[in-house]
Amino acid sequence: MTTHLLKCDVVIFGGGVAGLWLLALLRQQGYQSLLLETEALGAGQTRFAQGIIHGGTKYALLGKVTASSEAIAAMPGIWRECIQGNGVIDLTKVNVLSDNQCMWSHNALSSKMAGFFASKLMRSRTTEIKQQQRPKIFQHAAFKGKVYKLDEPVLDTASIVHALAEPHRDAIMHIKGLPHFEKDNVTHLKVEDNAGKSWHIETQRCVLMAGQGNADLVAAIGSDKLPAMQLRALKMVMLRGNLPEKIYAHCLEASVNPRLTITSHEDNKGEIVWYMGGQLAEEGIQRSDDEQIKIAQQELASLMPWVDLGKAQWACLDINRAEPEMGEGKRPDSSFFNASGAVITAWPTKLALAPKLAADIVMQMKETNLMASGHNLSEPNIADLATLPEFPVPDYALLPWQEESRWST
Ligand SMILES: Cc1cc2nc3c(=O)[nH]c(=O)nc-3n(C[C@H](O)[C@H](O)[C@H](O)COP(=O)(O)OP(=O)(O)OC[C@H]3O[C@@H](n4cnc5c(N)ncnc54)[C@H](O)[C@@H]3O)c2cc1C
Repeated sequence: MTTHLLKCDVVIFGGGVAGLWLLALLRQQGYQSLLLETEALGAGQTRFAQGIIHGGTKYALLGKVTASSEAIAAMPGIWRECIQGNGVIDLTKVNVLSDNQCMWSHNALSSKMAGFFASKLMRSRTTEIKQQQRPKIFQHAAFKGKVYKLDEPVLDTASIVHALAEPHRDAIMHIKGLPHFEKDNVTHLKVEDNAGKSWHIETQRCVLMAGQGNADLVAAIGSDKLPAMQLRALKMVMLRGNLPEKIYAHCLEASVNPRLTITSHEDNKGEIVWYMGGQLAEEGIQRSDDEQIKIAQQELASLMPWVDLGKAQWACLDINRAEPEMGEGKRPDSSFFNASGAVITAWPTKLALAPKLAADIVMQMKETNLMASGHNLSEPNIADLATLPEFPVPDYALLPWQEESRWST
């Protein structure tokens, strides 16, 4: 079988938000870069994300303002600039589901929360929403809590993947299985594309951005210097059927995580879907689907008893978050990358942090100038990808609520 030779500066594994953002940034700066994807674009955690562009209010809720919370605070602004066409990447085609979110506290907690939201820390991030301006659900006479506006957008993840990938389709290859790395030389690898063609790739850097798939790639490289991964499971719940309106809202309790986070989407017939995470999803991992749905029903019945969910159809989604291993069950509070020789292993840990992670990696590449062949990465000199034989491009993954098979009856 013929093996085609392909040379480039950077190979990225994984076509989720992190890999796609990095590909766009690298190509914009002139690096010959190639992205390899085994499934479909966005097929990993990205399509399960709620699309919330966090600005770190979660850290503020803990009263912790650290360097990492400063970094995440910049994210809503960075994404908004891109969406308006003035940012580092063109995201003008991204579908903004909501420009902001709301946080609500139910009756018993309201006075405690009011004091907290009036604190200096929170005043710049949140404002109380008066009765008439609230989502209709919280205008109901039976609602006794308070509602605050959080100035952080919610984006449609499928449109993010599309906007990032579409201009770079010529540099995205659909591959089968794991690559074969040359022993002690990760810059030389063999892959098979999805049409069965065999490729020998010579690159300066390999960036592992395959989410949960990073563990297998690390094993395929076989170096004990690369970072380990941890998985944190979630059991999300979605429902559709005569829902009163789209809401983007967190129910707050006196803990780091919202009791419930609801975002709204549309199924393939345009019907409203509520997608629910927060504590419900974290605590639900030990439950069966039926148990989790029952708890979700109880939560909504207790938090918004005036909403009629009699016609709702429910479904659960089991999905892992992939992150660097932190030890002692800790969770990372910023994006992460590790550079070891020619391999960079990275996890954004949040979709919102993809721009920061990509910028950090490009900066690291420029600063260290670590090149297997000794040529300067900042002066790309590899042949144009367009001159290569054709290779298959992966499809776009569907969003989970658009997959009819996931819905129970
Ligand atoms: C339920 C849920 C809700 C979330 N909500 C939010 C949110 O609202 N806001 C937020 O900021 N973050 C959120 N997150 C986190 C966010 O989704 C992730 O941090 C982010 O999507 C990770 O992107 P990624 O590109 O690193 O990985 P992924 O999206 O997992 O992409 C990895 C890609 O690599 C591919 N792949 C795997 N193995 C290989 C291989 N060997 N070779 C090539 N390709 C490979 C996969 O097919 C996949 O396409 C949420 C996560 C979950 C699970």
